[in-house]
Amino acid sequence: EIPEGSGAKCRISRDDVFLGRILGEGFFGEVHDGTGERIRVAVKTCKDCSADVKDKFLSEADLMKNLNHPHIVHLIGVIETDPVWIVMELYEHGELGNYLVEQQYNLSTAMLTLYCLQICKALAYLEGLNMVHRDIAVRNVLVASPECVKLGDFGLSRYIDEQEYYKASLSRLPIKWMAPESINFRRFTTASDVWMFGVCVWEVFSTAQQPFFWLENGQVINQLESGVRLPKPQSCPPILYSLLTRCWAYEPHGRPNFSQLVCSLRYSAAPSTHP
Ligand code: ADP
Repeated sequence: EIPEGSGAKCRISRDDVFLGRILGEGFFGEVHDGTGERIRVAVKTCKDCSADVKDKFLSEADLMKNLNHPHIVHLIGVIETDPVWIVMELYEHGELGNYLVEQQYNLSTAMLTLYCLQICKALAYLEGLNMVHRDIAVRNVLVASPECVKLGDFGLSRYIDEQEYYKASLSRLPIKWMAPESINFRRFTTASDVWMFGVCVWEVFSTAQQPFFWLENGQVINQLESGVRLPKPQSCPPILYSLLTRCWAYEPHGRPNFSQLVCSLRYSAAPSTHP
């Protein structure tokens, strides 16, 4: 059973939050930095917040209330009266995708592998909660410090029962990151998250280039079905790439799960400590 998020704990007072500059544009509205009672915060706002939109806007925060992990974006609270705000911990280095480009000459293979391990640990935690993320990509990972990244953007996430899957609507789907069964049948499971994680690792080692940038969205499924996969990025260690090819097994059951992946990635992060 999923514990109900404590509304009281998460309700905070607008008087405690001072809005600063705009960090970026979210799906629902601007995201600002700001100052909370003691810490720097990020505040998501909702532009055209009718009752319907407000429910959707807050559904991400509702999911996040139940999550507590060192590599998942931390929700501080929600201000539910208009204008509705979602207040999160601020991660000053911004999106991992941009950071990979800016710091491309400063990031070692060991550091890139560490980021992948941290994202994988966050996903192993979600796997334990029967939660599918559905949008694993470097644009949805934030950089807290040069040694620490946090998985965010739970806008598409859903709880699923065991053996069940989430059947998504057609809009807003990141085709080039998606598993074949997600493209064909809109079927999303932990196994399809594993496929997406493999694509996200590919991005990390490809300076955040778009996966399959050489293809149109509509061509991707044919390529996948004829056995084509993303090529090994130059800086990706072969041992890690062979792990990615297992994440991209056509059959969902042929893929490793996240707790197995954490073990394998620990090994590729520090192979010398294991004889
Ligand atoms: P949405 O999911 O609603 O589209 P995002 O989560 O992508 O919105 O946020 C939009 C932008 O705001 C992101 O690109 C990111 O740069 C910035 N941002 C969001 N949350 C944070 C945070 N906690 N710390 C720092 N920047 C953030």
